[in-house]
Amino acid sequence: MKEILIIGGGTAGTMLANRLARDAAEEVRSGEVRVTVLSNKEEHLYQPGLLYIPFRLKKPEELMRKVKDVLHPSVRLLFGEAVHIDVERKIVTTDGGRRLSYDYAVIATGSHPNPEQIPGLSEAGHIFYTLDGALKLQQALDTFEGGKAVVAVGLPHKCPVAPLEFTMMFEDWARKKGIREKTDITYCYPLGRPYGTESVADLAQREFDQRGIQVETFFYMEEVDVAKRELVSMDGRRIPFDLLVVIPPHKGAPFALKSGFADEDGWMPTDRHRLTLLDQKDIFVIGDATNLPISKAGSVAHFESEILAANLVDRIRGGPGERLYHGKVFCFIETGLDRATYIAFDYAHPPNPVTPSKTIHWAKLAYNNMHWLNLQGIM
Ligand SMILES: Cc1cc2nc3c(=O)[nH]c(=O)nc-3n(C[C@H](O)[C@H](O)[C@H](O)COP(=O)(O)OP(=O)(O)OC[C@H]3O[C@@H](n4cnc5c(N)ncnc54)[C@H](O)[C@@H]3O)c2cc1C
Repeated sequence: MKEILIIGGGTAGTMLANRLARDAAEEVRSGEVRVTVLSNKEEHLYQPGLLYIPFRLKKPEELMRKVKDVLHPSVRLLFGEAVHIDVERKIVTTDGGRRLSYDYAVIATGSHPNPEQIPGLSEAGHIFYTLDGALKLQQALDTFEGGKAVVAVGLPHKCPVAPLEFTMMFEDWARKKGIREKTDITYCYPLGRPYGTESVADLAQREFDQRGIQVETFFYMEEVDVAKRELVSMDGRRIPFDLLVVIPPHKGAPFALKSGFADEDGWMPTDRHRLTLLDQKDIFVIGDATNLPISKAGSVAHFESEILAANLVDRIRGGPGERLYHGKVFCFIETGLDRATYIAFDYAHPPNPVTPSKTIHWAKLAYNNMHWLNLQGIM
């Protein structure tokens, strides 16, 4: 029997497992292949929905499902934390001491914000990238009656456009609440423009200019001065705030860090086309866990899992499994509470956002609701 072991039951791991269960259904049914997901969580959280929680546009229960309920019934689900991978013997060990052998292993352990990197942040700032953080920010917005609002970004982080989305939604929200005139908004970004890619930075700058949102460029966060309520940059700039929302730099999972393969921030060295871990031909990395020069986004997890599932099924059937991933990404971008645009790009073609519209906003909302179908790997 061929064992396919997927470490991580988030977006990438779930999509891949479900695609394999369907595309290799015959082999799974006959016992030639077993697909296993090792998950350290019982709940699957739809993270893109966190963007809406601070504005009370989504409820937590709309974003959560049991991992067992989003996996195809033929997928074996094990709970536990992978703590070691032995590539010679092809064994993954869990925190409970269980040893899982594999023919093909897939690392889909994601990424997470690392607020500890910025002293003072946890005491005085808000982070909507976690459910707890998004709910605390919701409470803060409930009582916010105007003042200095600061959104600050550290790199790298997942969903590169989410900080821009939050800022534009917040501006719109303040206007609708009738407190815009009493609210200053400042966006702090570490590069020389408000986004890495030029076309998206231009769009953001245009929107920010029209709506009176200030931009602080080359702003590397050093610390939050909790007593003075100021955000301090490495070059000594101090930005006072009444409300601080931070997207801290992210790291890869502790498992990746300890695996001996990842760089110091936990990103796994991944072949940009084959999605293999370095030159390992039976170990793959997908989703946020890779060190690929593309967005850490659910859409990337989606497109990568499509390619990898096709290759694994082909290899199980004796083929070479040589389809290549070309860096495909698709992201909606909310530009307010009722307008959005989108970008689609790959390694060779940069993004070119279209004019924001209500129609695209509704498409994004519809897409959010389709996440659970999307996870099944049928879209
Ligand atoms: C606020 C916000 C908005 C976003 N908006 C968008 C959007 O609009 N569009 C978009 O495409 N993307 C968006 N994203 C990004 C998207 O959610 C992620 O890129 C996507 O979830 C990555 O999938 P993943 O499977 O790599 O990681 P995850 O979905 O995070 O899953 C990783 C899983 O692995 C588990 N794990 C980690 N270590 C181990 C271990 N050792 N053993 C077992 N399990 C382990 C984790 O607990 C987790 O369950 C957004 C994210 C946030 C936070």
